[in-house]
Amino acid sequence: MRDTEREAALQQGRRNNTITAARRCHECNEEALGHCPDCHKGFCQDHFPKQQHSPCAENQMRLAQTQVCYVCGRQVYPDQWSLSRTSHYIDEFRCNGCGRHVCDEMHTRRKAENISIIREGLRGHRYQSTTRYCDLCSPYYRIGGIKGLTRWVVGVGTIVAGVLFYLRP
Ligand SMILES: [Zn+2]
Ligand SMILES: [Zn+2]
Ligand SMILES: [Zn+2]
Ligand SMILES: [Zn+2]
Repeated sequence: MRDTEREAALQQGRRNNTITAARRCHECNEEALGHCPDCHKGFCQDHFPKQQHSPCAENQMRLAQTQVCYVCGRQVYPDQWSLSRTSHYIDEFRCNGCGRHVCDEMHTRRKAENISIIREGLRGHRYQSTTRYCDLCSPYYRIGGIKGLTRWVVGVGTIVAGVLFYLRP
């Protein structure tokens, strides 16, 4: 009787452990609420910001010198934070077109919020990320900035070259 009780308790404990282990913050024992878009680990509300967990904090430190607006050289601070248990904000301070860092005050020409809902267990997690476009990319934001434009031009160029080749006598 006592053995079965102990066995039951053990099983209960094991069950609880597997649940918490899967959803535990990588920095502490709190329940993990959001997943870092960079290192893909789960973190609690306190440890979700990049400065608050490894290896992203170290990366941030290393990258601090290079994380500057490519136009004016002002330092930018890519960040992410949780507003509540299920809503997370991500701002990379990076142009979505050319991938370079841009400052918020002067060189973000176009800014949009991109919301994605990711289901985790019973909860739906809302990730809101800030999408930015610099002066150069803003006019072409529909096709993905200047990188998209280059792809597009190359694509059209290939077609034109193909047609010319075909038409050549
Ligand atoms: Zn934590
Ligand atoms: Zn991370
Ligand atoms: Zn700037
Ligand atoms: Zn750009």
